Amino acid sequence: MLLPELEYARPATVDEAVERLAAHRNARVLAGGQTLLNALKLRIVHPDVLVDVSRLEELRQVVREQDGTLRLGAALTYDELASDELMRRHHPVTAQMTSRIVDRQVRARGTLGGNVCLADPTSNFPPLLVALGARLVVRGAAGVREVAADDFFLAPYMTAVQPGELLTEVVLPPLAPGEGVGYESLQVGIDSWALARASALVRVQDGTIAAARVVLGCGAVPARQPAMERALVGGPAERDAIAQAAKLAGEDFDPPGDVHATAEYRTAMARVMALRAVVAATKEA
Ligand SMILES: Cc1cc2nc3c(=O)[nH]c(=O)nc-3n(C[C@H](O)[C@H](O)[C@H](O)COP(=O)(O)OP(=O)(O)OC[C@H]3O[C@@H](n4cnc5c(N)ncnc54)[C@H](O)[C@@H]3O)c2cc1C
Repeated sequence: MLLPELEYARPATVDEAVERLAAHRNARVLAGGQTLLNALKLRIVHPDVLVDVSRLEELRQVVREQDGTLRLGAALTYDELASDELMRRHHPVTAQMTSRIVDRQVRARGTLGGNVCLADPTSNFPPLLVALGARLVVRGAAGVREVAADDFFLAPYMTAVQPGELLTEVVLPPLAPGEGVGYESLQVGIDSWALARASALVRVQDGTIAAARVVLGCGAVPARQPAMERALVGGPAERDAIAQAAKLAGEDFDPPGDVHATAEYRTAMARVMALRAVVAATKEA
């Protein structure tokens, strides 16, 4: 199916992109275009203007601050993130996860910003960013604001980014000594959408879990697991204890049932992913 006729803008700066977005109420950001172009062809969305940010160098940087915080430009492709030296050194699990997203074509075009702004429930990044305590930087005509990843994903395909706004950066806090990250997914096939995902950030001190953030993906929005987290903290960083805690996973988690799997199966698999993610995180710590 052909694309509808519409205006195409390729601003030279982020300022210009924000101006363009603010000037047209019915403008849309175009990043990798992998989802948006299909949505346009299928007449699911009807923007008048596409504001292409994919080549803005300002949005394609990885910057490390003095305290170790990493600032990731929203237009970085998965390939660029996966091969970035700072990412590989300071957030190796995130870099590795990114290097395994679907296939080469998707990794060459798909962007970090597109992934999180799409907010597809099965997408790779949302649960991981919530586990890492990431912050998302949003710019609009009214200025710049930072949104915690916990508050960013509002519903399937709905985020805190308002019409006329641009996500410019994803900010990853540094991992403290003793902290480790785990990320696990279950897919029907290697290049198909996930049935269940889980990510975890844990801090281990003298063999004991001192802090934990566990997040399930593939429900409506990434779901923190407070009961499992409470059960982990103070317990040994050992598989049996983690497996006991993982039985509590599933709070505020509502995956759909469809031809690929029932909701019950997805929830059961999410618990398994949560167990594996925490075990992996304790090994990284
Ligand atoms: C065959 C195939 C398989 C896939 N499998 C997976 C998978 O397993 N896991 C996964 O996570 N993803 C998967 N994807 C999704 C792919 O990664 C998406 O295309 C991606 O999530 C959207 O990124 P994009 O850069 O292409 O964004 P676009 O398609 O350009 O944009 C998507 C949406 O985000 C908005 N947007 C983009 N950037 C910004 C920004 N900076 N600020 C504000 N709004 C913005 C756009 O306006 C649009 O509404 C798959 C895609 C394909 C085609």
